[in-house]
Amino acid sequence: IIQVAGVNKWYGTFQVLTGIDLEVSAGERIVVCGPSGSGKSTMIRCLNGLEKVQQGRIVVDGIDLTANAHNVEAVRQEVGMVFQQFNLFPHMTVLQNCMLAPMRSRGVTRQQAQDTAMKYLERVRIVDQAAKYPSQLSGGQQQRVAIARALCMTPKIMLFDEPTSALDPEMVKEVLDTMIGLAEDGMTMLCVTHEMGFARSVADRVIFMADGRIIEQAPPSEFFSNPQHEKTRNFLGQIL
Ligand code: ATP
Ligand code: MG
Repeated sequence: IIQVAGVNKWYGTFQVLTGIDLEVSAGERIVVCGPSGSGKSTMIRCLNGLEKVQQGRIVVDGIDLTANAHNVEAVRQEVGMVFQQFNLFPHMTVLQNCMLAPMRSRGVTRQQAQDTAMKYLERVRIVDQAAKYPSQLSGGQQQRVAIARALCMTPKIMLFDEPTSALDPEMVKEVLDTMIGLAEDGMTMLCVTHEMGFARSVADRVIFMADGRIIEQAPPSEFFSNPQHEKTRNFLGQIL
């Protein structure tokens, strides 16, 4: 469902991504990890056109992101993204946050948008907070709303960029549980996270990045028990 081939990207003269090749199948669950500054966020932001690449090809759900600037809009309809900072609209209620994008860009009626929003808010177990504003919720609750909001667009792929790293420890589990539920339902997911327990139990494949490259990738059982590269071993040594 995702094909990335020969991608190179620079910020000015600094090469942030080098020779990225990546194929993701529908339903696959991928965890991306690696040291700070290794290009993880940049790579996944490229997958929904939040960042442009200078070389190489990125095709998402059959749509070539690198061919035509208009294709970015089409890809964004299929790809949901959840960030470290929840990025909810502060002046809108939880329900309004969830209804906005489907009404604007899917052309659904207010009633349909509301029904869908309530369904996903229920799914992330926060439906009782629908009339509140983001500032009235805990971090974990806000992040679950952000996940529900993304799901309201009925995306085929979900991207997560360190969704739990801004949360207090006691709220990490509720967000990870929501993500595990999504994985169990067969969602195609790419998650940048250092939650290695999540990687072990959910990921089909763990990708390790360093210095803008994919250094190593393997199923979690292999990745954790038998890392091939010294950089991977150093990294795992630091976080486990
Ligand atoms: P972290 O674990 O800290 O989130 P990361 O692996 O997600 O790191 P990126 O955010 O992708 O790393 O950044 C990769 C490199 O690109 C870093 O060296 C960063 O300083 C640089 N960088 C990121 N965004 C920009 C930008 N807009 N302009 C210039 N350099 C940038
Ligand atoms: Mg990052």
